[in-house]
Amino acid sequence: MSYYLLDHPPASPQFYPSRNSTPSYAVGVHTSEGPTGPGSARNLARFISQRSDPGSYHAIVDSEETIVMVPPDYTTFSVSASGYNSRTWHICLAGRSADLSPDDSNTQAMIVRAGEAIRALWTLLGIPLSNAQWIGTDALNRAGLFCHGTVQPWDRSDAWSTHPDQARLNELLANAINLPTPPTPPTSEEIMRRFIRPQSSPNVYLTDAGLLGKVHMKSEQALKDASWTLTQSGIPILPPPAGSKSENIAGVAVWVVSDPFADAIPTL
Ligand SMILES: [Zn+2]
Repeated sequence: MSYYLLDHPPASPQFYPSRNSTPSYAVGVHTSEGPTGPGSARNLARFISQRSDPGSYHAIVDSEETIVMVPPDYTTFSVSASGYNSRTWHICLAGRSADLSPDDSNTQAMIVRAGEAIRALWTLLGIPLSNAQWIGTDALNRAGLFCHGTVQPWDRSDAWSTHPDQARLNELLANAINLPTPPTPPTSEEIMRRFIRPQSSPNVYLTDAGLLGKVHMKSEQALKDASWTLTQSGIPILPPPAGSKSENIAGVAVWVVSDPFADAIPTL
């Protein structure tokens, strides 16, 4: 990991290489109130390294790039409200608050990048991602998220503390950090198969464990082929239930069921 302000020492002080207080590692979210789009994060990083007054962040994103400015245990000069710089971590989206929209692809790309950076930070520090909630001034005490303008409302309104779509922007960033759990793969129960035969019919059917459909095995060879193919594919074949009537057809265990039971399973 390289840090922009360590590689490009700033013209005037933009950080302390330590923290004066125990950090909560809550995350302050900012907008630069300047240009947006590709290249704007790098231009902002260069501006910070050259400016003559204090004003810096731990990370800057635009739609295409994430620039990490200093290590997480450094203090940046990001908020003039008391206590925040020493306790919290700061990320800036390159752009103007007024240009943000939850439906705009540039905004969405920046929020995805910010979410990745915050997720990496909190994962590194062992902070649960369930802290991706908007907590305002409680950021001094615990991990969470806040807009700069929320804790310094007298002269700041970034990143989106007064934005008409604040709630949706809040949700977008929270979801970008604490990604929704992916859908669970089917349980083995759902992929299991079994063979059945209605008691008054010679027809053998392949059915799923949930009995949502059945497929007629048109010959003993088809039955053997299906059994072999399923086994080769790692799909378990359920034996007939214990105590039920069953028979062995061409080496395959088949569950003999009542006709109404078989009729209730749609033929596929
Ligand atoms: Zn700010």
